[in-house]
Amino acid sequence: KEIVMSGIRPTGFLHLGNYFGALRNFVRMQDEYPCFFMLADLHSLTTHPDTSQLKTNIHRVLAEHLASGLDPEKCALYCQSHIYETSELYLYLSTLSMVGELEKTPTFKDKVRQHPQNVNAGLLTYPVLQAADILLHRAHLVPVGKDQEQHLEMARNIVVRFQHRYGEVFPEPVAFNYGGELIKVPSLDGAGKMSKSENQYATLYLSDTDDLIRKKVMKATTDSGPTAPNSPKPDYIENLFLLMKLVSAPDTVQKFEADFNACTIRYGDMKKQLAEDMVRFIAPIREKAEAIQQDTEYLKKVMIQGAEKARASAQATMQVVRQAMGLNYY
Ligand code: ATP
Repeated sequence: KEIVMSGIRPTGFLHLGNYFGALRNFVRMQDEYPCFFMLADLHSLTTHPDTSQLKTNIHRVLAEHLASGLDPEKCALYCQSHIYETSELYLYLSTLSMVGELEKTPTFKDKVRQHPQNVNAGLLTYPVLQAADILLHRAHLVPVGKDQEQHLEMARNIVVRFQHRYGEVFPEPVAFNYGGELIKVPSLDGAGKMSKSENQYATLYLSDTDDLIRKKVMKATTDSGPTAPNSPKPDYIENLFLLMKLVSAPDTVQKFEADFNACTIRYGDMKKQLAEDMVRFIAPIREKAEAIQQDTEYLKKVMIQGAEKARASAQATMQVVRQAMGLNYY
Protein backbone atom coordinates (compact mmCIF):
# COMPACT_ATOMS: atom_id res chain seq x y z
CA LYS A 1 0.00 0.00 0.00
CA GLU A 2 1.15 3.53 -0.79
CA ILE A 3 2.36 5.60 2.15
CA VAL A 4 0.87 9.02 2.81
CA MET A 5 2.71 12.04 4.27
CA SER A 6 1.83 15.69 4.72
CA GLY A 7 2.40 18.57 7.12
CA ILE A 8 1.02 21.89 8.32
CA ARG A 9 3.05 24.70 9.89
CA PRO A 10 2.07 25.79 13.42
CA THR A 11 2.22 29.44 12.36
CA GLY A 12 -1.27 30.47 13.47
CA PHE A 13 -4.88 29.36 13.53
CA LEU A 14 -5.90 26.89 10.84
CA HIS A 15 -8.30 28.15 8.19
CA LEU A 16 -10.68 26.86 5.55
CA GLY A 17 -7.84 26.51 3.03
CA ASN A 18 -5.90 24.22 5.37
CA TYR A 19 -9.09 22.26 5.99
CA PHE A 20 -10.22 21.75 2.39
CA GLY A 21 -6.73 21.62 0.84
CA ALA A 22 -5.24 19.26 3.40
CA LEU A 23 -7.11 18.15 6.56
CA ARG A 24 -10.25 16.87 4.86
CA ASN A 25 -8.12 14.49 2.79
CA PHE A 26 -6.04 13.47 5.85
CA VAL A 27 -9.18 12.37 7.69
CA ARG A 28 -10.33 10.16 4.83
CA MET A 29 -6.87 8.80 4.04
CA GLN A 30 -6.19 7.62 7.60
CA ASP A 31 -8.78 4.86 7.00
CA GLU A 32 -7.25 3.78 3.70
CA TYR A 33 -3.44 4.11 3.92
CA PRO A 34 -0.55 4.14 6.39
CA CYS A 35 -0.35 7.87 7.14
CA PHE A 36 2.21 10.29 8.61
CA PHE A 37 0.90 13.76 9.47
CA MET A 38 3.34 16.28 10.83
CA LEU A 39 3.22 19.63 12.61
CA ALA A 40 5.99 21.38 10.71
CA ASP A 41 7.58 23.44 13.49
CA LEU A 42 11.04 23.51 11.83
CA HIS A 43 9.48 24.97 8.70
CA SER A 44 7.91 27.74 10.76
CA LEU A 45 11.37 28.92 11.90
CA THR A 46 12.08 30.25 8.40
CA THR A 47 9.41 32.97 8.73
CA HIS A 48 8.52 32.94 12.47
CA PRO A 49 11.90 32.82 14.30
CA ASP A 50 10.39 33.82 17.68
CA THR A 51 9.81 30.47 19.43
CA SER A 52 8.23 31.81 22.64
CA GLN A 53 4.70 30.94 21.47
CA LEU A 54 5.60 27.81 19.51
CA LYS A 55 4.51 25.24 22.09
CA THR A 56 1.12 26.93 22.52
CA ASN A 57 0.73 27.12 18.74
CA ILE A 58 1.64 23.45 18.36
CA HIS A 59 -0.99 22.52 20.96
CA ARG A 60 -3.63 24.60 19.27
CA VAL A 61 -2.92 23.30 15.77
CA LEU A 62 -2.81 19.74 17.10
CA ALA A 63 -6.17 20.28 18.82
CA GLU A 64 -7.56 21.55 15.50
CA HIS A 65 -6.28 18.43 13.72
CA LEU A 66 -7.98 16.21 16.29
CA ALA A 67 -11.20 18.26 16.23
CA SER A 68 -11.31 17.86 12.44
CA GLY A 69 -11.39 14.08 12.84
CA LEU A 70 -7.80 12.81 12.89
CA ASP A 71 -7.35 9.77 15.11
CA PRO A 72 -3.86 9.28 16.64
CA GLU A 73 -4.51 5.54 16.79
CA LYS A 74 -5.01 5.35 13.03
CA CYS A 75 -2.17 7.60 11.84
CA ALA A 76 1.19 8.90 13.06
CA LEU A 77 0.54 12.47 14.21
CA TYR A 78 3.84 14.02 15.22
CA CYS A 79 6.01 17.06 15.54
CA GLN A 80 8.76 17.57 12.93
CA SER A 81 11.50 18.59 15.39
CA HIS A 82 11.10 15.33 17.33
CA ILE A 83 12.50 13.34 14.40
CA TYR A 84 16.24 14.11 14.22
CA GLU A 85 16.70 11.92 11.13
CA THR A 86 14.98 14.69 9.17
CA SER A 87 18.07 16.90 9.46
CA GLU A 88 20.38 14.16 8.21
CA LEU A 89 18.30 13.46 5.12
CA TYR A 90 17.88 17.23 4.55
CA LEU A 91 21.67 17.54 4.33
CA TYR A 92 22.03 14.67 1.83
CA LEU A 93 19.18 15.98 -0.31
CA SER A 94 20.59 19.52 -0.33
CA THR A 95 23.55 18.18 -2.33
CA LEU A 96 21.04 17.01 -4.95
CA SER A 97 19.18 20.34 -5.12
CA MET A 98 20.13 23.06 -7.55
CA VAL A 99 20.34 26.65 -6.25
CA GLY A 100 19.04 28.04 -9.57
CA GLU A 101 15.93 25.90 -9.32
CA LEU A 102 15.34 26.86 -5.68
CA GLU A 103 15.68 30.57 -6.46
CA LYS A 104 12.98 30.31 -9.12
CA THR A 105 10.34 28.81 -6.78
CA PRO A 106 7.31 31.15 -6.67
CA THR A 107 6.81 30.59 -2.92
CA PHE A 108 10.42 31.68 -2.29
CA LYS A 109 9.87 34.84 -4.35
CA ASP A 110 6.64 35.54 -2.41
CA LYS A 111 8.37 35.15 0.94
CA VAL A 112 11.21 37.45 -0.15
CA ARG A 113 8.59 40.06 -1.01
CA GLN A 114 6.77 39.57 2.30
CA HIS A 115 9.87 39.44 4.54
CA PRO A 116 12.64 41.38 2.76
CA GLN A 117 14.50 41.86 6.06
CA ASN A 118 14.85 38.11 6.66
CA VAL A 119 15.81 36.32 3.44
CA ASN A 120 17.55 33.42 5.20
CA ALA A 121 18.97 30.30 3.55
CA GLY A 122 16.26 28.20 5.23
CA LEU A 123 13.66 30.00 3.11
CA LEU A 124 15.60 29.09 -0.03
CA THR A 125 15.94 25.42 0.94
CA TYR A 126 12.38 25.07 2.24
CA PRO A 127 11.46 22.65 -0.60
CA VAL A 128 14.51 20.50 0.27
CA LEU A 129 13.40 20.15 3.90
CA GLN A 130 9.93 19.37 2.65
CA ALA A 131 11.31 16.66 0.36
CA ALA A 132 13.19 15.22 3.37
CA ASP A 133 9.94 15.13 5.41
CA ILE A 134 8.20 13.16 2.67
CA LEU A 135 11.05 10.86 1.63
CA LEU A 136 11.89 10.02 5.23
CA HIS A 137 8.82 7.76 5.17
CA ARG A 138 9.26 6.78 1.52
CA ALA A 139 5.82 8.30 1.01
CA HIS A 140 4.10 8.33 -2.33
CA LEU A 141 0.88 10.32 -1.82
CA VAL A 142 1.03 13.86 -0.45
CA PRO A 143 -2.34 15.49 0.27
CA VAL A 144 -1.79 19.26 -0.17
CA GLY A 145 -3.40 22.38 -1.61
CA LYS A 146 -2.61 23.84 -5.02
CA ASP A 147 0.06 26.19 -3.64
CA GLN A 148 2.29 23.16 -2.98
CA GLU A 149 2.26 21.72 -6.51
CA GLN A 150 5.64 23.12 -7.47
CA HIS A 151 7.30 21.89 -4.26
CA LEU A 152 6.20 18.36 -5.10
CA GLU A 153 7.71 18.69 -8.54
CA MET A 154 11.01 19.64 -6.92
CA ALA A 155 10.79 16.64 -4.59
CA ARG A 156 10.38 14.42 -7.67
CA ASN A 157 13.42 16.04 -9.29
CA ILE A 158 15.43 15.25 -6.17
CA VAL A 159 14.23 11.62 -6.22
CA VAL A 160 15.25 11.25 -9.86
CA ARG A 161 18.73 12.65 -9.13
CA PHE A 162 19.10 10.41 -6.08
CA GLN A 163 18.09 7.42 -8.17
CA HIS A 164 20.58 8.32 -10.86
CA ARG A 165 23.48 8.60 -8.41
CA TYR A 166 22.73 6.12 -5.67
CA GLY A 167 19.94 3.79 -6.80
CA GLU A 168 16.26 3.34 -6.27
CA VAL A 169 15.20 4.03 -2.69
CA PHE A 170 12.28 6.45 -2.93
CA PRO A 171 9.01 6.47 -4.87
CA GLU A 172 8.30 9.70 -6.78
CA PRO A 173 5.84 11.57 -4.53
CA VAL A 174 2.69 13.07 -6.04
CA ALA A 175 0.31 15.77 -4.75
CA PHE A 176 -3.06 14.27 -3.93
CA ASN A 177 -6.68 15.34 -3.56
CA TYR A 178 -9.67 12.99 -3.58
CA GLY A 179 -11.51 15.25 -6.04
CA GLY A 180 -8.59 14.99 -8.54
CA GLU A 181 -7.69 18.68 -9.07
CA LEU A 182 -5.79 20.29 -6.19
CA ILE A 183 -7.73 22.93 -4.30
CA LYS A 184 -7.05 26.62 -3.75
CA VAL A 185 -9.45 28.26 -1.30
CA PRO A 186 -9.51 31.96 -2.28
CA SER A 187 -9.37 34.78 0.25
CA LEU A 188 -12.59 36.75 0.79
CA ASP A 189 -11.17 39.87 -0.87
CA GLY A 190 -10.46 37.87 -4.01
CA ALA A 191 -6.79 38.90 -3.87
CA GLY A 192 -5.07 35.54 -3.30
CA LYS A 193 -5.44 32.45 -1.14
CA MET A 194 -6.58 32.19 2.45
CA SER A 195 -3.48 32.00 4.63
CA LYS A 196 -2.55 31.61 8.30
CA SER A 197 -0.15 34.47 8.53
CA GLU A 198 -1.12 36.94 5.78
CA ASN A 199 -4.29 38.92 5.17
CA GLN A 200 -6.19 37.70 8.25
CA TYR A 201 -9.42 39.63 7.72
CA ALA A 202 -9.96 37.93 4.35
CA THR A 203 -9.36 34.46 5.81
CA LEU A 204 -11.94 32.33 7.63
CA TYR A 205 -10.31 30.51 10.55
CA LEU A 206 -11.61 27.34 12.19
CA SER A 207 -11.36 29.35 15.45
CA ASP A 208 -13.47 32.35 14.34
CA THR A 209 -16.55 33.15 16.44
CA ASP A 210 -19.96 33.05 14.77
CA ASP A 211 -20.15 36.84 14.71
CA LEU A 212 -16.70 37.25 13.24
CA ILE A 213 -17.52 34.72 10.49
CA ARG A 214 -20.68 36.71 9.64
CA LYS A 215 -18.77 40.00 9.62
CA LYS A 216 -16.00 38.68 7.35
CA VAL A 217 -18.40 37.06 4.87
CA MET A 218 -20.64 40.15 4.68
CA LYS A 219 -17.57 42.27 3.86
CA ALA A 220 -16.55 40.08 0.89
CA THR A 221 -16.25 42.05 -2.35
CA THR A 222 -19.30 42.08 -4.67
CA ASP A 223 -20.81 44.52 -7.21
CA SER A 224 -24.27 45.59 -8.31
CA GLY A 225 -24.89 42.29 -10.13
CA PRO A 226 -24.78 41.02 -13.74
CA THR A 227 -26.44 43.15 -16.37
CA ALA A 228 -26.96 40.50 -19.08
CA PRO A 229 -28.23 36.91 -18.69
CA ASN A 230 -25.62 34.13 -18.49
CA SER A 231 -22.67 36.55 -18.18
CA PRO A 232 -19.25 35.27 -17.11
CA LYS A 233 -18.63 35.78 -13.37
CA PRO A 234 -15.96 38.22 -12.20
CA ASP A 235 -13.25 36.50 -10.10
CA TYR A 236 -14.50 37.75 -6.74
CA ILE A 237 -18.03 36.43 -7.47
CA GLU A 238 -16.65 33.11 -8.73
CA ASN A 239 -14.80 32.89 -5.38
CA LEU A 240 -18.03 33.35 -3.41
CA PHE A 241 -19.62 30.50 -5.37
CA LEU A 242 -16.54 28.38 -4.77
CA LEU A 243 -16.80 28.95 -1.01
CA MET A 244 -20.51 28.19 -1.14
CA LYS A 245 -19.86 24.88 -2.90
CA LEU A 246 -17.58 23.88 -0.02
CA VAL A 247 -20.09 24.38 2.80
CA SER A 248 -23.63 24.81 1.43
CA ALA A 249 -26.18 22.28 0.17
CA PRO A 250 -26.03 21.66 -3.61
CA ASP A 251 -29.58 22.99 -4.17
CA THR A 252 -28.66 26.25 -2.40
CA VAL A 253 -25.73 26.71 -4.78
CA GLN A 254 -27.96 25.88 -7.76
CA LYS A 255 -30.55 28.42 -6.69
CA PHE A 256 -28.00 31.25 -6.56
CA GLU A 257 -26.41 30.09 -9.85
CA ALA A 258 -29.85 30.29 -11.48
CA ASP A 259 -30.48 33.74 -9.94
CA PHE A 260 -27.09 34.89 -11.25
CA ASN A 261 -27.84 33.67 -14.75
CA ALA A 262 -31.26 35.34 -14.68
CA CYS A 263 -29.73 38.63 -13.37
CA THR A 264 -31.99 38.49 -10.30
CA ILE A 265 -29.28 37.64 -7.80
CA ARG A 266 -29.06 39.69 -4.58
CA TYR A 267 -25.54 39.35 -3.27
CA GLY A 268 -26.62 40.47 0.20
CA ASP A 269 -28.93 37.42 0.43
CA MET A 270 -26.25 35.14 -0.98
CA LYS A 271 -23.69 36.33 1.57
CA LYS A 272 -26.18 35.95 4.44
CA GLN A 273 -26.84 32.35 3.39
CA LEU A 274 -23.12 31.68 2.96
CA ALA A 275 -22.37 33.18 6.39
CA GLU A 276 -24.94 30.93 8.10
CA ASP A 277 -23.65 27.83 6.30
CA MET A 278 -20.09 28.75 7.30
CA VAL A 279 -21.12 29.17 10.91
CA ARG A 280 -22.80 25.76 10.83
CA PHE A 281 -19.63 24.23 9.39
CA ILE A 282 -17.02 25.95 11.56
CA ALA A 283 -18.71 26.19 14.99
CA PRO A 284 -18.57 22.45 15.91
CA ILE A 285 -14.87 22.19 14.94
CA ARG A 286 -14.05 25.36 16.91
CA GLU A 287 -15.87 24.14 20.01
CA LYS A 288 -14.23 20.71 19.90
CA ALA A 289 -10.76 22.21 19.37
CA GLU A 290 -11.21 24.60 22.32
CA ALA A 291 -12.09 21.67 24.59
CA ILE A 292 -9.23 19.44 23.39
CA GLN A 293 -6.71 22.27 23.73
CA GLN A 294 -7.33 22.46 27.47
CA ASP A 295 -6.12 18.88 27.95
CA THR A 296 -2.38 19.45 27.57
CA GLU A 297 -1.52 16.06 29.12
CA TYR A 298 -3.49 14.31 26.38
CA LEU A 299 -1.85 16.45 23.67
CA LYS A 300 1.60 15.56 25.02
CA LYS A 301 0.68 11.86 24.96
CA VAL A 302 -0.46 12.13 21.35
CA MET A 303 2.82 13.83 20.34
CA ILE A 304 4.98 11.22 22.09
CA GLN A 305 3.05 8.34 20.58
CA GLY A 306 3.20 9.93 17.11
CA ALA A 307 6.95 10.57 17.38
CA GLU A 308 7.58 6.91 18.22
CA LYS A 309 5.81 5.76 15.06
CA ALA A 310 7.47 8.39 12.87
CA ARG A 311 10.93 7.69 14.34
CA ALA A 312 10.68 3.97 13.62
CA SER A 313 9.81 4.66 10.00
CA ALA A 314 12.56 7.33 9.69
CA GLN A 315 15.25 5.09 11.15
CA ALA A 316 14.38 2.25 8.79
CA THR A 317 14.58 4.59 5.79
CA MET A 318 17.90 6.12 6.88
CA GLN A 319 19.54 2.71 7.10
CA VAL A 320 18.58 2.06 3.49
CA VAL A 321 19.70 5.56 2.45
CA ARG A 322 23.15 5.29 4.09
CA GLN A 323 23.63 1.89 2.51
CA ALA A 324 22.60 3.16 -0.94
CA MET A 325 24.92 6.19 -0.61
CA GLY A 326 27.85 4.05 0.47
CA LEU A 327 28.14 5.78 3.84
CA ASN A 328 28.10 2.63 5.99
CA TYR A 329 31.87 2.07 6.08
CA TYR A 330 32.13 -0.35 8.99
P1 ATP B 1 1.40 30.41 6.16
O1 ATP B 1 0.48 31.59 5.94
O2 ATP B 1 2.00 30.40 7.54
O3 ATP B 1 2.40 30.22 5.06
P2 ATP B 1 -0.52 28.53 5.10
O4 ATP B 1 -1.90 28.90 5.50
O5 ATP B 1 -0.13 28.86 3.70
O6 ATP B 1 0.47 29.13 6.17
P3 ATP B 1 0.82 25.93 5.28
O7 ATP B 1 1.12 25.46 6.65
O8 ATP B 1 1.92 26.49 4.43
O9 ATP B 1 -0.40 26.99 5.37
O10 ATP B 1 0.11 24.75 4.48
C1 ATP B 1 -0.58 23.68 5.08
C2 ATP B 1 -1.44 22.98 4.05
O11 ATP B 1 -2.60 23.78 3.76
C3 ATP B 1 -0.75 22.75 2.70
O12 ATP B 1 -1.17 21.48 2.21
C4 ATP B 1 -1.29 23.85 1.83
O13 ATP B 1 -1.30 23.49 0.46
C5 ATP B 1 -2.71 23.96 2.35
N1 ATP B 1 -3.26 25.29 2.11
C6 ATP B 1 -2.84 26.46 2.67
N2 ATP B 1 -3.61 27.49 2.22
C7 ATP B 1 -4.51 26.95 1.35
C8 ATP B 1 -5.59 27.49 0.57
N3 ATP B 1 -5.91 28.77 0.63
N4 ATP B 1 -6.31 26.63 -0.20
C9 ATP B 1 -6.01 25.30 -0.24
N5 ATP B 1 -5.02 24.73 0.48
C10 ATP B 1 -4.28 25.54 1.26
